[in-house]
Amino acid sequence: MKLSELKNGETAVIVRLSGHGGFRKRIMEMGFIRGEKVKSVLDSPMHDPVKYHVMGYDVSLRRNEAAMIEVLPEEEAKKELTPVNSFACHSACENCNSSLGCNCIYRPASTKRKNVIDVALVGNPNSGKTSLFNALSGSSEHVGNYSGVTVDAKNGSLSYKGYRINITDLPGTYSISAYSPEERYVRRHLFEQQPDVIINAVVASNLERNLYLTTELIDMNLRTVVALNMFDELEASGATIDYGHLGGMMGIPMIPTVAKASKGLDKLLDTVIELFEGENKTIRHIHINYGSVMESELAPLSQMLHRADDLPQQFPVRYWALKLLEQDKEAQSSLASCKDFTLWQTYSQTAHKKIHTRLGVDVETAIGDAKYGFINGALQETFTPGNKDTQRQTRRIDRLVANKWLGFPLFLALMWLMFTAVFRLGAYPQEWIENLFGWLGEAVSSAMPQGALQDLLVNGIIGGVGSVAVFLPQILILYLFISLMEDSGYMARAAFIMDRIMHRMGLHGKSFIPMIMGFGCNVPAVMATRTIESRSSRLITILITPFMSCSARLPVMILFAGAFFPKCAPTVLILLYVLGVLVAALTARLLRKVKFKADETPFVMELPPYRMPTLTATLRHMWEKCEQYLRKIGTVILASTVIIWFLSYYPRPAADTASTDNVTTTEIVAGNNDGSYMSMIGKAIAPVMHPLGLNWRATIGIITSIPAKELVVSTLGVLYSSDSEENLQESIAASGDFTPRSAAAFLVFILLFFPCIATVAAIAEETHSRKWALFSVVYNTAVAWIAGYLVYTIGGLL
Ligand code: GDP
Ligand code: MG
Repeated sequence: MKLSELKNGETAVIVRLSGHGGFRKRIMEMGFIRGEKVKSVLDSPMHDPVKYHVMGYDVSLRRNEAAMIEVLPEEEAKKELTPVNSFACHSACENCNSSLGCNCIYRPASTKRKNVIDVALVGNPNSGKTSLFNALSGSSEHVGNYSGVTVDAKNGSLSYKGYRINITDLPGTYSISAYSPEERYVRRHLFEQQPDVIINAVVASNLERNLYLTTELIDMNLRTVVALNMFDELEASGATIDYGHLGGMMGIPMIPTVAKASKGLDKLLDTVIELFEGENKTIRHIHINYGSVMESELAPLSQMLHRADDLPQQFPVRYWALKLLEQDKEAQSSLASCKDFTLWQTYSQTAHKKIHTRLGVDVETAIGDAKYGFINGALQETFTPGNKDTQRQTRRIDRLVANKWLGFPLFLALMWLMFTAVFRLGAYPQEWIENLFGWLGEAVSSAMPQGALQDLLVNGIIGGVGSVAVFLPQILILYLFISLMEDSGYMARAAFIMDRIMHRMGLHGKSFIPMIMGFGCNVPAVMATRTIESRSSRLITILITPFMSCSARLPVMILFAGAFFPKCAPTVLILLYVLGVLVAALTARLLRKVKFKADETPFVMELPPYRMPTLTATLRHMWEKCEQYLRKIGTVILASTVIIWFLSYYPRPAADTASTDNVTTTEIVAGNNDGSYMSMIGKAIAPVMHPLGLNWRATIGIITSIPAKELVVSTLGVLYSSDSEENLQESIAASGDFTPRSAAAFLVFILLFFPCIATVAAIAEETHSRKWALFSVVYNTAVAWIAGYLVYTIGGLL
C-alpha cells in the first residue's frame, strides 16, 4: 500500500522507496527509510500536501510524492523486512593501527597561526545554528553578511582564553551531498576554506535524523564537536542520553547546549580549543561499515586512490572512494584533474552497477541505510526516549492553523493585520521623521545664503533622502511580522497550506515565503528563495518576485490613488497588489510552459514545532533590516538624489546668469524652463510613454525609479512643488498632467516596471547569470508597458 493512502491518524512502516534518485536521496536524508514508522497526521486545508510524522518530527509531503513510498501495517512489515544492520558497526581507520583511531590525523590543527581558530557551524535547518552563532559571537562583535556567493554565510568572532575564534554560520542542510544550493555551498566551504574545527549543531531531542549529517562529517574526517542543542527540550520530554558514551562510539565529542539561554557555551569552546590543539581524548576517526558488498568495492578503489599523489588532501581517501561509488557529480569535478581519474571513473561505474544488482538497491540508498543503521545502533545503547508528550501543543495549534475551514481565513486575517499595522502604526513615526527632515531643511535654508550649495543640501540631499527615510518605520514593522512568523514556525505552515495553490503555478509552497517577503523588499525576497531546492522553481520564483509590490512602491500608489481616485483609494491599492500577484502567477505558468519542463524535486519540508520567538532574536532581525535600509539610504539613494539634483539644476537658465543663484531647482524644472538636463532626458524618452498618456515629467519619475523606487516620489516632489497648492498630492492633481486614465496607467507601469537596481543585482547574483537579470529587466519593462497601454486604452473606452 502507498503512504498516500494512509488516513489521518494511521501509522504504517516504510518498506520501499521508488521514484528517481534525487527524490529517494532527499526523502532518505529526511528520515524516510526502510523500516521506519510513519504516521499521517493532518491534511492541509486543500487536502494536499499532508503532514506526516516520521523520526520524531513533522514533515510536509505531497500526495503524489507520498505515493512513491510503499508502506505496510506494522505486523505485515515485520514479516516483510529483514532487519537492517542495527548495531553500531564501525572500525577504526586502517591508516592507524591503534584501535583508538587516527591519532596521526588529529594532530594540532595549525602550526602557523597559533591562536586563531576558524570554526564553521553546520547542522540541519532549525537546529539553532544562528542562535548558537549569536550567543557565541555576541552582539558586540562584528556580524556581517557577505554576498557574492550563492548562499549567505555570516561571520563573527570572539576572544576566548587567549584565542581568537572566527565563526562562520553556514546555511542549514540535511546532508552535505550536492543536492541543493545550500548543500553545495557548505561542502565547498569545508573543502576550500578548510575550517580548523566544525561545530555540528544537533537537535538533542531528534538525534536520529540530525546525526545523519554527523555521519557525513565522520566520513569527511573533520575535526568536529557536536553541540547537543535544545538540551532543555530533551530534558523536558523526560528522555535521557549518555552523550559521553555516544560520543565515544562516534569518535566525536558531544556537549549539551541551550543556545537560546547561552548555556553550555564555555564547555563547547573549551572543546573547540582542545580539538584545535589536538588534545581531545574523544576524537578519533572511525569507519562506518557500509556492509560487505559495498566494502568489497570500497577497499580496492580506496587503494587505487591511495596510490595517487595528486589526490586533494582535504578529505580522506575513503571519502573520495565513497563519493566516486555514489557517482557524485561534485566529487567527480573535484577529482577530474587527477592523473588517474578516468581509471577510477571506469572502476566506480562498474562497481556501481555491481552493487546495485547484488543489493537490489542503488549505492546511495545502501549507504543511507547503513548510516541510519549505525546511528540506530549507537542510539539504542545510549538513548532512552521520554514519556512526556512535548508535541501536544504543536499538534493542537496545527489543527487550528491548518484546519480545513479555518486555515485560510486565519492566514488572510494575519496578512490583513500585518498590512494594517504597517500602514496605520507606521504612519505615526513616519510623521515624526517627516517633521524632523522638514525642520532640518528649514534650518539649513535659513542658516545658509541662497545658491547652488544651499539648493543641493535642502532640495537635493535633505529632501531626497528624507522622502525615503520616512519609510523606515513601515519597513521595521513589516519585518517584525516576518521575523515573528519565521521564528514561531508559522511561515512553514503558510507554505504548507499554500502549496496546493502554488502548485497550480508550477511552484512549491516554499515559493510562497519569498513572495510574501517581496511585499517588504524584493532584495531579501530574492535571497530567501535559497530554501527552494529545485533550480527551476527557484529561478521562476526569483523572476516573479519583482512583481510583488514592494514597500517602496507604496508611497507612489498612495500619492496617486489619493490624488485621482480619492473615493476608492484603498480599493485601488488592493487592485494593484492583486494585479502584481496575477502577473506573477501568469509569468510563472508561462515560464513553466515555455522554458522549464516539469519540476522533479519533491516538496518535502520540515514543519518545526512551534516555539516562542525570543525578544533578542526579533530585535536583532529588525536591527539588521534597519541597518541595511540605512546603508541603502546612505549609498544608492544619496548618490542618486545628488545626480538627480544635478541634472535638474543645471544648466542654469541663460537669460539671467547673473541672478541664477536666486532661482531654485523647483522653479527651473516645474516652471517653463526646458533647459535642465533632466527635462531634456525626459523629453527624449517621453514619446515612448505617450501611448500611455504620460508626458515628460511622468517619464522622469519613471526613470528615477530605476535606482530605487522610493525616488519616484521625491522626484515628483521636486517637479511638482508649487507655492499655490498645499501638498504634493494637490499640486499633481492640479497640474493637468494626469487624468485618472493616465494616472492609472502610470501606477500600473510603476508597479510592473524594471525592478530597482538592487533587485536586479540580487537576481544576477542569485541566478549566477547576467542573462536572467537582463531578462528580468526587459520582460518586466515590456509587461509594464503593455499593461499600462491596456489600462489607458480600456480607460478610454469606458
Ligand atoms: P538555525 O536555522 O539552525 O539557524 O536555527 P535558529 O537559530 O534560527 O533556531 C531555530 C529555533 O530554535 C528558534 O526558534 C530558536 O529560538 C530556537 N532555539 C535555538 N536554540 C534553542 C535551545 O537551545 N532551546 C530551545 N528550546 N530552543 C532553541
Ligand atoms: Mg539560521
